[in-house]
Order: sequence, then C-alpha cells, then structure tokens
Amino acid sequence: MNLKSCSKCKKLFSSVGGSLICRECIKLEEEEFQRVRVYLRENRGADINIVSDETGVPTKKILKYLREGRLEISEGMADILKCEKCGVSIKSGKYCRNCSEKVSKDLSSILIQKEESNNSGAKMHIRRN
Ligand SMILES: [Zn+2]
Ligand SMILES: [Zn+2]
Repeated sequence: MNLKSCSKCKKLFSSVGGSLICRECIKLEEEEFQRVRVYLRENRGADINIVSDETGVPTKKILKYLREGRLEISEGMADILKCEKCGVSIKSGKYCRNCSEKVSKDLSSILIQKEESNNSGAKMHIRRN
C-alpha cells in the first residue's frame, strides 16, 4: 500500500495512480467544478467575480478550469484568458487556434526527429512505403 499525506487536507490516504489528494478532496474538487459549470450554464455571460461569489469557488480555480479546457469562457469573462504565445483573447485552453496549430506542428516535428534518431543505427527498420 502506498500511503501519502493529502496535499489539501494533510490526511493520510492510499494513493492510487500517483494522486496527490485524497478521495474526499477529489470529490470536493469535482463538486466545486460542477457548481461552476452548472452556474455558468444557467447564467451565460456572468462575470467571473460573480461566478466566484455565487459558487464559493475562488476565481483562481475557475481560471484553472478554463486553462485546462474543462470550461468555456462566458461572454462576461471576455479578455480574462489570453493566449500564452501571442496574447490574443481566447475562450479556453492555453493558446489561440493559430498558436495551438503551430504548437502541435512543432510537437509532431520533434516527435518525428526523435523517431528518426531512434531508428538510426537500429537493426530493424520500419519500411515506409
Ligand atoms: Zn484530502
Ligand atoms: Zn496565439
């Protein structure tokens, strides 16, 4: 058994899959997320500060949901989230559409380079037709 101290409530719990918080805290976090989600669904265009007041979830956390792409920004929150590359305002995630395309291209070119360097000198070759 892999006992860890929960990074939120400090209680000891058995960690499954490297989780840093205990099951109760995971449940609480999930409930907070659902509260925000439901509130936003019913109050389109709400300001992030109002959402935070009404749900009791800190704005920081709401921003985190947006960054993770779990929530879409509402109209009242325009300009809160910005592309980390070019600074254009976006609705969810980290980058705007242009930059995320570039980022995924960069990533796939890195992967291809890696694959090629792995293959060089190897005895078995995958033949590309
Ligand atoms: Zn906990
Ligand atoms: Zn961008």
